Amino acid sequence: MFPPSIRTNRRLAVHAFARLYSTATSAHPIKVAIIGSGPAGFYTAHNLLKNERVQVDMYESLPVPFGLVRFGVAPDHPEVKNVINKFETIGANDRFQFYGNIRVGDSVPLQAIQSNYHYTVLSYGASEDRHLGIDNEDSLQGIHSARSFVGWYNGHPDFKDLAPNLDTETAIVVGQGNVALDVARILLSPIEELEKTDICEHALEALRKSSVKHVHIVGRRGPLQIAFTSKELREIMGMPNTRFIIDRDYVEKTVSEHKAALTKDRPRKRLLEILVKPQEPADSPRPKTLTVHFLKTPRAAVPDSSGARLAAVKFEDNELRDDAVAVGTGSFTEIPAGLLFRSVGYKGTGIPGLHFDSRRGVVPNNKGRALDSQGKIIPRLYVAGWLKRGPTGVIATTMHDANETSTMVLEDIHQDLEAKEDALASVSGAAGVLGTSAAKAVDAVSFSEWKAIDAYEREQGQKLGKPREKIVSTEEMLRLVHEARAAKA
Ligand SMILES: Cc1cc2nc3c(=O)[nH]c(=O)nc-3n(C[C@H](O)[C@H](O)[C@H](O)COP(=O)(O)OP(=O)(O)OC[C@H]3O[C@@H](n4cnc5c(N)ncnc54)[C@H](O)[C@@H]3O)c2cc1C
Repeated sequence: MFPPSIRTNRRLAVHAFARLYSTATSAHPIKVAIIGSGPAGFYTAHNLLKNERVQVDMYESLPVPFGLVRFGVAPDHPEVKNVINKFETIGANDRFQFYGNIRVGDSVPLQAIQSNYHYTVLSYGASEDRHLGIDNEDSLQGIHSARSFVGWYNGHPDFKDLAPNLDTETAIVVGQGNVALDVARILLSPIEELEKTDICEHALEALRKSSVKHVHIVGRRGPLQIAFTSKELREIMGMPNTRFIIDRDYVEKTVSEHKAALTKDRPRKRLLEILVKPQEPADSPRPKTLTVHFLKTPRAAVPDSSGARLAAVKFEDNELRDDAVAVGTGSFTEIPAGLLFRSVGYKGTGIPGLHFDSRRGVVPNNKGRALDSQGKIIPRLYVAGWLKRGPTGVIATTMHDANETSTMVLEDIHQDLEAKEDALASVSGAAGVLGTSAAKAVDAVSFSEWKAIDAYEREQGQKLGKPREKIVSTEEMLRLVHEARAAKA
């Protein structure tokens, strides 16, 4: 039995919860627009729909939903994609509508959304990437962002034509987070492992012919700053065909110099222990290598003799000041490589009519309530996910902050209704948005039409012995949607 103070607190919490999730259904619906259909959008929708007066319309720029769960999460991590099952149940809710193939800020202005909905939640993620800012970065063949490479193997329509040239033995990935590990794993994995996944056929075909045997993952700071997670690190170190190379002495020295701090940071201590653990002996030789380098900043992409293709990357060696700040030493090393992937972070962008922090790539906000340039709360405008806190963190982190944002929306709904019931006068919602002249030409895809694409992709996958074969062109997706519409008519 809980003591009285806890019982009282629990009663208050239950009361507050009940008020937030009020089930009054007599009045007109409260219409909420959510922009972006990644985990942040779906988790926000899930919470808002607990209030039975709320209707959610979700706008997505692509004809297909789920954001980075579909286009980011690695194909050999199918278990991570199980969250889609939960999102599917939200999609089936009759107070939820999906409007795919609509880019807000483009064919539909943000202002049109705000004036046709009571509340608007922005969860459109981070669709740009950070550059290295080195010589020849944009001119040489063989240099790609991890974002475009990941999009290419995962079938994102924007990157279907990337066609990276894998006719080189060595690739460099700059950046030391899980995305860098994903890129390295896809490049080094035995093809038979990838054939069982939903990786796109065009990528499989290129990887079958790939000459890449050696991958270098390079970071500008030390082991205390790596952003890998233990599970992903263990997975790549356990690859039977790949030798894992690292300066173990340097990692061990760092660990012994920071013993006290590491006792308080157990996850990092564990990570560093994994990093220096010798690999299990393999049954067969390991023809491929993965080398992790510390204390190196890329300074230039070096061209080959034709001047057109990458031949090496020049790095400046660093030392760490105050244990965390990388400072160039003026000495340089070159790593020969025909491929360079920059994996130094995704970046959010603004849309017209929105106050945006371009440096951090986020919409400034207070617990999810969007702020204007004066730092004041913009009534009824919210932000969730990577657009809210920046492009870091896994799906679970995104779920937690979507929970925070949706709690703010529910609190504001409650307060607006308490102020005056007609504070939330009836609004037109999607009919108002899609009726505007610019939006009339938009070919919006519904959730049931997405399910037609989904069924087709699964069917095509089955023929190839894979969970799905994704359609990679928007035109092809829309063609299927039109066929589904015609069959229904
Ligand atoms: C390569 C990669 C691998 C990852 N692997 C894992 C993993 O294995 N496990 C894990 O837990 N997490 C993983 N993550 C992290 C996870 O994907 C993110 O935490 C999560 O997707 C962020 O959710 P979001 O909704 O904020 O953004 P997103 O998932 O990016 O969703 C944003 C959506 O908004 C849409 N959109 C963009 N602009 C507009 C617009 N103007 N109008 C309408 N719609 C728009 C986009 O098309 C997209 O569908 C990975 C991330 C990356 C980049």
